[in-house]
Amino acid sequence: MEKYDVIIGLEIHIQTKTKTKMFCSCSAEYFEKPANTQACEVCIGLPGALPVPNKLAIEKCILFGLATNCKISETIRFDRKHYFYPDLPKGYQISQYDNPICSNGCIEIKDEKGKKEKIEIERIHQEEDVAKSLHIKNYTLIDYNKSSVPLIEIVTKPIIKNAHDAKEYATKIRQIVRYLNISDADMEKGQMRCEPNISIQKKKTWKYENGKILPIGKNKLNPKVEIKNIGSISAVEKSINYEIQRLIEQIENNEKIIQQTRGWNAEKNITEFQRSKETAEDYKYFPEPDIPVIEIDKKTLDKIKKELVELPDTKINRYTKEFKLSEYDAEVITSSKEIAEFYEKLLEEINSPKTVANWLIGPIFSHLNNSNIEINNLEINLKELAKLISMVEKKEILNNKAKEILEKALKENTSIEKILKESKSTVINNENELENFAKQIIKENPKPVEDYKNGKTNAIGFLIGQLMKLTKGNANPEIAKTTIENLINKG
Ligand code: ZN
Ligand code: MN
Repeated sequence: MEKYDVIIGLEIHIQTKTKTKMFCSCSAEYFEKPANTQACEVCIGLPGALPVPNKLAIEKCILFGLATNCKISETIRFDRKHYFYPDLPKGYQISQYDNPICSNGCIEIKDEKGKKEKIEIERIHQEEDVAKSLHIKNYTLIDYNKSSVPLIEIVTKPIIKNAHDAKEYATKIRQIVRYLNISDADMEKGQMRCEPNISIQKKKTWKYENGKILPIGKNKLNPKVEIKNIGSISAVEKSINYEIQRLIEQIENNEKIIQQTRGWNAEKNITEFQRSKETAEDYKYFPEPDIPVIEIDKKTLDKIKKELVELPDTKINRYTKEFKLSEYDAEVITSSKEIAEFYEKLLEEINSPKTVANWLIGPIFSHLNNSNIEINNLEINLKELAKLISMVEKKEILNNKAKEILEKALKENTSIEKILKESKSTVINNENELENFAKQIIKENPKPVEDYKNGKTNAIGFLIGQLMKLTKGNANPEIAKTTIENLINKG
C-alpha cells in the first residue's frame, strides 16, 4: 500500500419522498403495488405527453443542497440524457447536465483515527428514476410503477481516500436526508443506491486540481473502475476494499487495467465484471424542450431555508457543550432524529442530561434492540419515566431496582407507575425503620462489630452488605451505614 494512493469518488442516488412522481401525477409510492398500476402516458413515455416538474421534489433537492453547504443555482434547467435500455421507455432520462440545482458543497466526516475530514460534493442534481425490469424465465417484463419517481443524484469530487471514509460519507448522507424528511433512504427498498468509482495511482504521479485528478509530467494515470448499484452501507466499504485489493494485484502483476463497470455480489463478497468502457459514454445531452427554465426566487429560497432543522453535527456540538455529554454519547443519541427528539422531550420532564443519556443508551436501547422496534414505537409515558429517574437521584430507590422496574414495564407493556406500586421497591430511607434490621445484624455478627470497634473501619462494609441482604436490597446504603455506626457507637 505504501507505493499507491487510493482515489475514490462516490455517486449516490436517493429517491425523494413525494406523493406523486417527478413529471406526472401518478403516485410515487410504488413499493409492493401490483405491476403497472401506477403509470400514465407521461411516465411510460408516449409521444406527445408533456412532463410537468414536481415542485415539492425540487424544493427537497434545494433543501438538501442547503444542508450540505452547496451553492444553489438561480435557475433550473432540465436536460435529456440519451441511452437505450428497456427500463427507459422514452429512450432518454430527464436529468440535468451542465446546470445542476446544487453545486460545490461539502460535509464533514470522521476518518478512521477520529480526525475530521471534509468531503467535497461536486454536484447534486434532480432527475427521474427508471422503470423496473423483472427477469422471469426467458422473458424480461417491465413494471413502470417506478418509472419517473423523483431521484436526486449526489456526486462527490474524487477526494475520498479509503473505504472507511466512503462508508462514513454514505452514512452521513443517509442521516441528513432522514433528518430533513427528504427520503426514508431505505436501502433495502432501493430508496438509496451507491456507486463508488475507484482508481489506484502510484504515489507522486498525480495531483488533485480543481476537483480533478491530473497526471504529473509524463505519467499516465490508471483508469478507474465503477461499482454499480450497491444496496447497503456495509457493502460500500466491503466492495471498495475488495476492488482496491484486486487493482493493486493487477498492477503488481503488470496486468493492463481496463476502465470498466463491475457489480457487487453480496453473497460471494466479490465484485464481478459487467462491461468495459473504452471511452466515456456519449449520452448526447440536450436541453429538455418541454420544460421551461424555472427561476428560484428569494422568497421560495427563504421558505425552504425555514425547513432546515438542526442537523446532527450541530446537535453533537450543542450536546457536548450545553449538556456536557461525551462525544460518543452525543453521537449515539443524534444518530437518528427520532432518538434525539425522544431525548430532548425527556429532558423537558427532568433536567439531568447525563443521567437521562445513560438511561437512554442503557436500558432503553437494549429494550429496542431486544424487541427489534424503533424508538417511535416505544410505548412509554415520559412523565412516569422522568419520575422514576428522579427517584433514583433522590435516593428513594436503588438504581438497579429502578432499571428492573423500567425493563418490566417495557416488557409487559404496562405503566411504570403500576409496576412501581406492585413492587414494594421504595427504599427504606428512614433510620427508625432500619434500626430493627440493623440491631439484628449487629447481634448476629459480633466479630466484625468488634473489629470495627478496634478501628478496622473496613468491617462496616461487611455489615452494610448483610443489612442489604436482609432488606432484599431495599435499604438506602448511606442511611444503613449511619444507622449501624450510630448503634455500635451507642452500645
Ligand atoms: Zn405517470
Ligand atoms: Mn443518475
